[in-house]
Amino acid sequence: MTFPTSRSQSLPDYDHRTQRLFVANDLSASTPLILSREASHYLVTVLRFSEGDSVLVFNGRQGEWLGKLGKADRKAAMLDVIRQTRTQPAFTDLDYLFAPIKAGRLDYIVQKAVEMGASRLIPVITRHTQHARLNIERMNANMIEAAEQCGVLRVPELAPEIKLDALLARWAPSRTLIFCDERAEQQNPIAALQATPRGPLAVLIGPEGGFSTEERDLLLKLPSVIRLSLGPRILRADTAGVAALALVQAVLGDWRMNGLPL
Ligand code: SAH
Repeated sequence: MTFPTSRSQSLPDYDHRTQRLFVANDLSASTPLILSREASHYLVTVLRFSEGDSVLVFNGRQGEWLGKLGKADRKAAMLDVIRQTRTQPAFTDLDYLFAPIKAGRLDYIVQKAVEMGASRLIPVITRHTQHARLNIERMNANMIEAAEQCGVLRVPELAPEIKLDALLARWAPSRTLIFCDERAEQQNPIAALQATPRGPLAVLIGPEGGFSTEERDLLLKLPSVIRLSLGPRILRADTAGVAALALVQAVLGDWRMNGLPL
């Protein structure tokens, strides 16, 4: 039996072992980088890298590049950029809308959303959201770390938090809102997604307390909404997020063979 292997970012080409580093700089061959203080500290002091060690760098725009550490300065290490190892892949336009929860599980939600290929994270405040002040710096650090670890070449954008009604009031009709709803009539999630129009997507997961009746009404009135069932059990919000993103990536996103937007 043969399997098609047309995926340009196929895993065999992909180096899992070399340390990966997100940088803000533009990347091109033979333009050395001076790493930020934090990145230099991380490589030289924390990971104990020394001159000549390899690092893969990416900036979310120009793919992934092999770099070799030059002068291993703890405050401003130099990196020689050798060659491109992967081109910048196309990404699924996939917003991930979630109600913030307490810190430890919020870390998990943010990391998993990046691993699963969300392109934008939007914290949504709902009636039953247990809302503490969001630690944006910590969320950004989690997103960068998840991208570095998983070989994702784009750190998603983190949008400012927004109230659900405000978000729905200015919803762009071209973006399908995939509302994860334990009461969805269509109980087959794959059939529900196959019937979804092609184009930009958003996945919405509710808070632990679920949505209020008014919020459900608002959601169901939106013309571009589809309801997605995640099976017969009530999942915790963090589990529901991973399950929903897996289904969406498999049916509509970059888990499909050629990985390109539909
Ligand atoms: N409504 C419940 C549980 C909320 S679970 C309550 O009132 O306690 C948190 C969120 O996860 C839900 O709002 C929903 O978006 C999602 N979710 C959990 N289990 C689900 C399922 N079986 N199908 C679809 N979505 C689910």
